Amino acid sequence: MERIYNFSAGPAVLPREVLEQASDELMNWHGCGMSVMEMSHRGKEFTSILEAAEADLRTLMAIPANYKVLFLQGGATLQFAQVPMNLLAGGSADYIVTGDWSKKACKEAGHYGTVRQVVTTEADGFTSFPTWSGLDLNPDAAYLHLCTNETIRGVEVLDFDSLPTAVPLVADMSSHILSRPMEVSRFGLIYAGAQKNIGPAGVCLVLIRDDLLGKAAVGTPTLLDYAVQAENHSMLNTPPTFSIYMAGLVFKWLIRQGGLAAMEQVNIKKAGLLYDVITRTGFYHNPVQPAFRSRMNVPFTLRDPSLDETFLAQARQHGILQIKGHKSVGGMRASIYNAMPLEGVQALADFMADFEQKHG
Ligand SMILES: *Cc1c(COP(=O)(O)O)cnc(C)c1O
Repeated sequence: MERIYNFSAGPAVLPREVLEQASDELMNWHGCGMSVMEMSHRGKEFTSILEAAEADLRTLMAIPANYKVLFLQGGATLQFAQVPMNLLAGGSADYIVTGDWSKKACKEAGHYGTVRQVVTTEADGFTSFPTWSGLDLNPDAAYLHLCTNETIRGVEVLDFDSLPTAVPLVADMSSHILSRPMEVSRFGLIYAGAQKNIGPAGVCLVLIRDDLLGKAAVGTPTLLDYAVQAENHSMLNTPPTFSIYMAGLVFKWLIRQGGLAAMEQVNIKKAGLLYDVITRTGFYHNPVQPAFRSRMNVPFTLRDPSLDETFLAQARQHGILQIKGHKSVGGMRASIYNAMPLEGVQALADFMADFEQKHG
């Protein structure tokens, strides 16, 4: 069967080449006579897979040497708790709330200590990112948390140069990590669940600066202590071996594409195709302020919502699937991560233009 164009927000499309390679290697990885799923996580085969994944990620993101790379479990959602457990150290943290995910992160962190919601854009429907200048930030905060791409509303921080520098920044980058070059050193900690732009579900990536290790609160489960995980190279217990292997294949694929600068160029083009159709007339609508429109998640509504079901049914006939919007927002959402080819986005843009012609 021919594959469809999968616009799911996550778990999301994976590169075809990566799936083909995984399929080729499934029964017998590199002549060792077994699948990656069946290997001891402490054996030399899996150790080489983990080491290559980390090395390739370090190359791709130009991760400075004073950052640890951790492959953890529990998804980004566990990081909402694990971050304050490890970093609050009896102090207070500031949270910027710009969408559903940062709102959840802020709420969860409140269970572990003192947390201040510095600002929320909820009253405007989460359609922008606040300007930093007017914010009442705590210069003594243990950290400042933000979500640099809000997956549900499609709000992205594209300008990292304007980020404050006074306290360590902690960023949830689940849905746009690896979409463009990003200066890791601007952040104290970066986390990202894998199933959007990294690989299959089951592994969560954490990049943490060395000086933030070793501050976990008393009572933090050993498995959730970043310092212990770092000392044990993410192998304190059995890691999600197959997910890490798949992530490693994706990293190699990204390097073959020319790295993150090359991905950024394609991603700009892909997002441009959709926003052009959406903003051309009033038939489609995206409420996000133009400067913050996400290149990864493009939500939009139809002027006439009674056409939604027809739109979805006809999209399906064109091989365009998983494009229904998040239940809290309605309408549509096209997630166009790295693995979504330009042809897929072009097919969607053409379909949208055609649909508008017939129904506008
Ligand atoms: C998907 C997502 C999450 C939740 O990820 P899980 O891995 O399901 O816990 C958190 N933050 C953002 C920005 C996301 O896109």
